Amino acid sequence: MAALRTTSAAETEAVGERLAGRLEPGDVVLVSGDLGAGKTTLIRGACRALGVTEQVTSPTFTIGHRYAGRVPVSHLDLYRLQGLEGEDPALLEDYVGPGTITFIEWPQVAAPELERVSARVELRHAGGDEREIELA
Ligand code: ADP
Ligand code: MG
Repeated sequence: MAALRTTSAAETEAVGERLAGRLEPGDVVLVSGDLGAGKTTLIRGACRALGVTEQVTSPTFTIGHRYAGRVPVSHLDLYRLQGLEGEDPALLEDYVGPGTITFIEWPQVAAPELERVSARVELRHAGGDEREIELA
């Protein structure tokens, strides 16, 4: 477990890059934190480090994006699924798999379905551009 502090979006991207260095195909990373805490920013840094050249933005019209990096990378945002009971668990099947590295924003609703969570990241606003980031 590590607790870090960043003071810019670029620094938070760099945390994502470092995290990416220890991931392998099949890994799932849960990324929690309030709106604007920097979840997408951190995932953007991680995706870049994994060889994703497409622009990484929060999925809004679908629950996720799939990117072709050096390995397949998925980026899910389950914000709109919060509190929805009985959502089809197969929803995740398109995004999570043994060959893919998956990042999930607002993961609470999916956590029970996920067998291979390899890292949890929690971001918190700490005033202005400061963010506290816990990695576990
Ligand atoms: P989330 O996905 O958690 O809703 P985003 O990553 O989309 O958050 O947005 C974070 C916003 O906060 C961006 O506009 C980013 O530029 C800004 N920001 C300012 N300081 C930081 C920081 N230290 N870390 C991450 N983002 C920051
Ligand atoms: Mg986001």
